Amino acid sequence: MRVKEDVLPRRIAKQIELSGIVQGVGFRPFVRNLAVEHRLVGWVRNTSAGVDIEVEGPRQEVESFVSELLSRAPPRAEIEEINVRECPTNGNQHFAILESLPRPDACQRVSPDIATCEPCLSELFDPQDRRHRYPFINCTNCGPRFTIIEDIPYDRPKTTMRSFRMCPACEHEYEDPTDRRFHAQPNACPSCGPHVWLCDRSEPVDPNLRGEAQPDREAIRRAGQALKEGAILALKGLGGFQLACDAANESALTRLRERKRRPDKPFAVMMPNLAEVERHCSVTAEEKELLCSPACPIVIVRWREGSTLCPSVAPNQAYMGVMLPYTPLHHLLLCETGRPLVMTSGNLSEEPIVKDNDEALLRLAPLADLFLLHDRDIYARFDDSVWFVPVLGSPQPVRRARGFAPSPVRTSFPLGRILACGAEWKNTFCLTRDRYAFLSQHIGDMENHETLEHFEKTVAIYEHLFRAKPAALACDLHPDFLATRYAHRRSRDEHLPLLSVQHHHAHLTSCMADNDWDPNAGPVLGVVFDGSGYGADGSIWGGEFLIADYRAFKRYGHLQVMPLPGGDAAIHRPYRTALAWLQASLGEIPDLPFLGSVSEEEMGVVCQMVTKGSNTPLTSSCGRLFDAVSALLDVCGRSTYEGHAAVRLEMLAGDRIDALCRSQYPIPIEERKEGKVVCLGPLFKAIVEQVKAGRPACEISAVFHNTVAQGAVEMCLRMREETGLHVVALSGGCFQNRALLRLTLEPLRERGFQVLLHRRVPCNDGGVSLGQAVVAYHLCGENG
Ligand SMILES: [Zn+2]
Ligand SMILES: [Zn+2]
Ligand SMILES: [Zn+2]
Repeated sequence: MRVKEDVLPRRIAKQIELSGIVQGVGFRPFVRNLAVEHRLVGWVRNTSAGVDIEVEGPRQEVESFVSELLSRAPPRAEIEEINVRECPTNGNQHFAILESLPRPDACQRVSPDIATCEPCLSELFDPQDRRHRYPFINCTNCGPRFTIIEDIPYDRPKTTMRSFRMCPACEHEYEDPTDRRFHAQPNACPSCGPHVWLCDRSEPVDPNLRGEAQPDREAIRRAGQALKEGAILALKGLGGFQLACDAANESALTRLRERKRRPDKPFAVMMPNLAEVERHCSVTAEEKELLCSPACPIVIVRWREGSTLCPSVAPNQAYMGVMLPYTPLHHLLLCETGRPLVMTSGNLSEEPIVKDNDEALLRLAPLADLFLLHDRDIYARFDDSVWFVPVLGSPQPVRRARGFAPSPVRTSFPLGRILACGAEWKNTFCLTRDRYAFLSQHIGDMENHETLEHFEKTVAIYEHLFRAKPAALACDLHPDFLATRYAHRRSRDEHLPLLSVQHHHAHLTSCMADNDWDPNAGPVLGVVFDGSGYGADGSIWGGEFLIADYRAFKRYGHLQVMPLPGGDAAIHRPYRTALAWLQASLGEIPDLPFLGSVSEEEMGVVCQMVTKGSNTPLTSSCGRLFDAVSALLDVCGRSTYEGHAAVRLEMLAGDRIDALCRSQYPIPIEERKEGKVVCLGPLFKAIVEQVKAGRPACEISAVFHNTVAQGAVEMCLRMREETGLHVVALSGGCFQNRALLRLTLEPLRERGFQVLLHRRVPCNDGGVSLGQAVVAYHLCGENG
C-alpha cells in the first residue's frame, strides 16, 4: 500500500508565512518565478507582517519550493521566521501576485535604503538605454526605501512616489514578473518620474519654466562645472541635503568651513570609485568590503601621504572619512567633476539635516552658492552612516543612520515594548518590540528646538511603522536632558511607567545586548571610558569600572575625580581642565609651554575655582583626562568639536605606539571608601617632568595611552580576582580611540579575558538608548 501511494504523484497544498526583510527587496517576483519553475499554482502577497504564500502541486515539487525559498532568496532579503503548514487544495489555476493585505498591529520590517546596483549603473551609463543619465534609476534590488516610506505594507501609494504616475513603459516593467523592476515601488524614467534642477540662492527657478531639452543632464552638467570652479553646492540626496565642494580646492574648503561654522571637525569625502579611494588612502580588505556594501557608509580609513586632497579636509588627522557614490545622482555628479568631493550633511553646525526644498532654500542659503533640487520628497531624514575598522575586533559603527536604521538589533531574548529616549549628545532612541530593538537613525545633539522636533517626529514614524506603542519609557538620570524631559512629559500624559537608567550602566548593557549577551548568563565586568554622564551620586562620571547585569550594577571603581572649572564649559577649553588638574594633583601650576597663551588673570581665576570648589564639579571622566593631557602637551588647548583634543592626542601618538607600548607612567590603584580609585597624581607628575625635560609630545602621548590602558587592565584583573568573572565589556566614546582600544584589548585577551566589543551599535552615546531599553525591560518585567 505504502509503495503505491509514494509512486502516485499526489497533489498537496501548503501555506507559508515569512517574516524578516521580505518587502522592497524583490521577494514576490522571486516567489512567483520559483513557483512557476516548479509548476506550482497558488498566490503570494505582502501583509503588514511579512509575506504570505499558498502553493499547490505535486508533493516533491512543493517540498523543493519550500527549501529553495530559503536557499535562493534575493540578495537583500533577510528571512527570520518561516511557518509552513499543509492546507486543503483550493483548485487554483495559476500563480498570482495578490493585493497587499494590511493587518492591524502586525509588525513588518522595512528595508533601509540601498546603494545603486551594478545592473542599474550599467544602464545609467548606456547611451542606448531609455534611462541613460537619468538620476532616479532604481530597481527591486536598489534605491530609496525607508527615506520615502510613509506606511506599510510597502506599496507605491504609501511612498512619496505616489504623485508620479508611471508611463506605459514603466508600468509594463512594474507588472512583468520576469522584469527586474517588477513591483519596484520607486520605479521611474525621464518621461514619468522625478527631475532635478539647478538654481542659485538669489533666484529659485520654477522647474516648469526651465525650457531645456534635457533638463536633468544640463542641471547636473552645470552643477559639476560650478563645483570644478570652486562653488559650494547644496544637493538633495537620499535622506537629506548635502553640501559638496571640491576636496582639492583650498579656498572652497575655507569658505565651507567658515559658513558652516566648523573650523576643525573633519569632513567626509565622496570618491568616484575604489581606485580613486586607493590613490588617497590605504584601505584594508575589510574596509573595502564596508565601502562597497549595499549600505555604502562613510568609512574612516588611513589617509595616504602624498594624497592631493587639501589637508584642511581633515586637519591634523591621519585618517579620513570616505564613501562611494550611493545614488544615481551622486554617480552622475562625480562622473561630471571626475574628482573627490567633500560631502557633508546639509545643516548649520548641529541642527538636523535639511530635507525639503523650501527648507533648503531658506536654511542653507547662507551656506551654499547653488542648489541642485529635485521633486521626489524625502519622508524620513537620514544622515550618512559612519564606520571604522579597529586593528583588532570587527567593524564598529560610529554613527548608525542611512543604510542601517531602521534595521533592528535582534536579540535572542525578549525586549518587551519600551521606548528608550537616549542621551543628549549623538542622540538615538530605541523602540523595542518582541525580540527587536529598533534603534533609530542618528538624531543629533539635543540642544536645540529643531533637533527635539526631529526626535519627536521620528519617534512617531517608528511607533506607527512598526506598530509598537510603548508600555514603558526609559531615560537618562540627567534631569535636564531634552530627551529626559520628553520622557517625563510622556510618562505623565500617557500614564506610562518611566525608568531612569544610569548613563554608564546603559553604555555597558548596550555593549552586552549588542553581543546578544544572555540575561541568564549572569553579570559581566565593564570598562566604560566616556566623556561624561550623570552619576548615581549626582557627580559627573566617565571613567568607570562596573560589575553589571541587565538589572543592576555595582560601581567597583573609577578614575580619580578631578575638578572641572565651569562645568560643561570646560569641554571647549581643555587648557582650563589642564590647569585645574595640575592644581588639584600637584598643588601648584608648574611653568609649562602651554601656559604661554593663558593670562595670569585667568590662571588665578581657575586656581581659585579649584581651591574653593565654586562652579567646579568633580568628574571621573576619561574624556576629560585626555583633554587635560592634550592641553598640557600644548597639542590642543581649545576644542571646537566633541573629542577634538583627544583625537589630536591620539594622532600624535600615531606610529609611536608600537615602539613604546611596553613603557608606562605610574598609575597606582588605591582603596578608598567609595571603591577602588585609579590615581592620576603620579601620572601628571611624570608627564610634567618629561615635558620639562624636553621629551617629544608624541612619545609622551604614546606612553600616556598605554598607561591608561594598563590602569584598565589592572582593574579588570582585580575585579576578576574578587568576583571570578572573566567577561569584560568595553564601552564609552573613548573606545573610538584606536590606540586606546588596541592597547586595552590586547593584554586583556592575553590574560584570558573574554572581551565584548560593540559590533552593531556605536560605543559612543549613540548606543546608549539600546542599554536603557534593555535595563528598563528587565526592571519592568514581562508587562514592559
Ligand atoms: Zn538596481
Ligand atoms: Zn516611465
Ligand atoms: Zn556616554
